[in-house]
Amino acid sequence: MGGLVTSGGGVVPAYKRQLVNSQRVAFAASITDDGWPVASLLTSGDARPLLTADGEAARLSVRLPSEAGPGFACPSLRAHLLRPDAPAAFIAMDFESRLRFRVQGRVAAHDGQQPELIELATSETFPNCSAFIPKIELATVAAAARPQPTPAVSSSLSDEQAALVGSVCSFFVASAAPVRRPAATTTHTLHLPSTGNTASPRRCCPPHRWLGGSQDCASADISHRGGQQGFLRVRDDGATLSWPDYPGNGSFMTLGNLTAYPKASLLLPFLPHGKMLQIRGTATVSWDPDSADDGAERQVNVAVEEVVETGGMAELYSWRLVETSNFAPACSALAGAQPAPQRRFVTVTRAKDVAEDVALFKLDTNGKGTLPYVPGQHVTLRVPVNEGSEPLTRSWTIVENPTLLLPSYTNSQVNIAVKRDDGGGGASVWMHDELRDGDELELQGVEGAFVMDVLSPGFAATVPRKLLLLSAGIGITPFVSMLLALQASAPLRRSDRQSADATDIVLLHSTRRMSQVPYQQKLEALADGSEEWSGGSFSVRIEWVITGQEGAGRVGAEGIAAAVPDVAAREVMLCGPPSYMEDMFAALGGLGVGPERIRTESFLM
Ligand SMILES: Cc1cc2nc3c(=O)[nH]c(=O)nc-3n(C[C@H](O)[C@H](O)[C@H](O)COP(=O)(O)OP(=O)(O)OC[C@H]3O[C@@H](n4cnc5c(N)ncnc54)[C@H](O)[C@@H]3O)c2cc1C
Repeated sequence: MGGLVTSGGGVVPAYKRQLVNSQRVAFAASITDDGWPVASLLTSGDARPLLTADGEAARLSVRLPSEAGPGFACPSLRAHLLRPDAPAAFIAMDFESRLRFRVQGRVAAHDGQQPELIELATSETFPNCSAFIPKIELATVAAAARPQPTPAVSSSLSDEQAALVGSVCSFFVASAAPVRRPAATTTHTLHLPSTGNTASPRRCCPPHRWLGGSQDCASADISHRGGQQGFLRVRDDGATLSWPDYPGNGSFMTLGNLTAYPKASLLLPFLPHGKMLQIRGTATVSWDPDSADDGAERQVNVAVEEVVETGGMAELYSWRLVETSNFAPACSALAGAQPAPQRRFVTVTRAKDVAEDVALFKLDTNGKGTLPYVPGQHVTLRVPVNEGSEPLTRSWTIVENPTLLLPSYTNSQVNIAVKRDDGGGGASVWMHDELRDGDELELQGVEGAFVMDVLSPGFAATVPRKLLLLSAGIGITPFVSMLLALQASAPLRRSDRQSADATDIVLLHSTRRMSQVPYQQKLEALADGSEEWSGGSFSVRIEWVITGQEGAGRVGAEGIAAAVPDVAAREVMLCGPPSYMEDMFAALGGLGVGPERIRTESFLM
């Protein structure tokens, strides 16, 4: 892998298994024998999922659609994935909640009994942030069989294909990482801009040496790119595809690969008239922000060498664009005369400490627009930690909005609670130590699907009757936001007071010390008075678990069962450090709460 940061090793963490294991459409990549990445979409065609990550093993089972039936948008990829030891990559995308998870590895085994089943020995697994992913309704079409469409292959883009390219707001890039040779061979150091992550630069062999065969590729990767329509464009020469690499794509997985091994393959599955394009070419990355489109920091250019157009996709899957990401800047290519993208800034003021090492910051648009949000969502800010290098992009949950909700969540001010983390990239320490009141920070957006939409019509009828909120450490902030909003919005739900069936919410929060819990007293008062402020339609109970500095008192299955005896009857929302989330998944599973009843938020992107 040519990127700088990976997380999670080869195991799909428990809190991402639901996402991975529920996909009936997936996006896959491998490497051809002549060393080209190739990507395709595959569909299940029936109710069964395509990918299964199970237990603690670094394995992924993949149910390949059969040769005869529908399923593979590009059947040649199937053959590549059936080669033993073939590099392979999969990305699970939930275009509804804008979540994605990437898995890489090598094909380890086929099941002789079920030839369509392959096992991937996974080497890298990682989530990516939700920014730039459009909302798309995507569904498989259960066709019994379809004629194998004949792809049209050419060495350049036709005018019609160029127009199709310009229409997309979502596409995939397949890339490869070169084999790393022993240190004795000539090496050079790949210098990528600082991401705030502390991994050292990778040593790679000179790029052109590796334009050989698949034996020179260590791994395949597939990643997603999203933006406003027109962000992927054909340059004036008609032979170069190009897209801006927006702030936030800071892990350099794909760009690291393309810099070290410039063969790229683009997959455009969301095109009108049931078409799909696969485009191969040699990629170059321009690191000069001045030559990047639409306020981006980098630009990727691909000199087109092969275009494959396949029709008949409407018989495999249906798709509908619901909305583009509100993180994505406006695209200047559209109509040629659009104004430059508006960068938004907020004034930041430190308010007070809300717990040990947790400070509250007020963000204000100063009358320049509002900050609509749904409780549980977060802001993403650019934090200028080191002078002269790129700001770090970090997200913080909106804990409250000073005028609380009425008549909507919309306000020009919101508050975030930032815990100082001395072991990280430095953004939280900068906020605590360097920010001066009134500093302006760039706001990239307000996002998040881990929400409790207390103002939505019929909320009281749709919220689960029994809900368990499980958090640890600073992972409590989404629940602070939700519970404060639930209380503040109670007067708007007067009619709910007639409800005989109250919603019963338990917050079970683990902390090393009580002094580290933000909003502790406010939450306790809210819980104590919950019957009163909700007119009997909500009851809120809080259980604190104090683990101590070394985490000796950590909560497990027994602790959960003792604090929440009816846990098996509850829906769960879970937020905390990765190891805690893993433990909770295991504990909840043992208590009869399967992953389909657990919604998660990870603070690590
Ligand atoms: C949706 C969301 C909501 C959030 N809400 C809040 C909030 O309300 N309050 C709050 O204080 N923080 C919140 N965070 C976390 C926040 O974005 C920052 O990560 C945090 O403030 C620390 O920033 P930092 O630059 O100091 O450290 P970071 O560089 O962000 O590192 C944070 C920690 O993660 C570890 N880490 C980093 N990358 C990896 C990796 N790949 N694998 C394993 N460990 C890694 C680091 O060692 C460090 O201990 C939220 C994050 C997300 C994604």
